Amino acid sequence: MKKINPPLSAFARLYCNFFGHDFKISKSVTNHIHEYTCKHCAIEMTDTANGFLAQLTPRFKETNDYLAQIHKRRRRKNYATAS
Ligand SMILES: [Zn+2]
Repeated sequence: MKKINPPLSAFARLYCNFFGHDFKISKSVTNHIHEYTCKHCAIEMTDTANGFLAQLTPRFKETNDYLAQIHKRRRRKNYATAS
């Protein structure tokens, strides 16, 4: 199996193993679902529909893109009915 992850510095990995990841929101999918990236080792995580944090796989990315589209469309609709 080929690894597609970018090479991480040994120090960043060690740091996260020791202190834990330091996640920053990299993308807001909906009001409740976000994607996070670790500031140190750049690992990506996402909120899942059942409220857990999971590693951001291509499959989750696809789901999130889909959710974001629905969310955007819904927000636009709400604005249209509110005004
Ligand atoms: Zn990390």
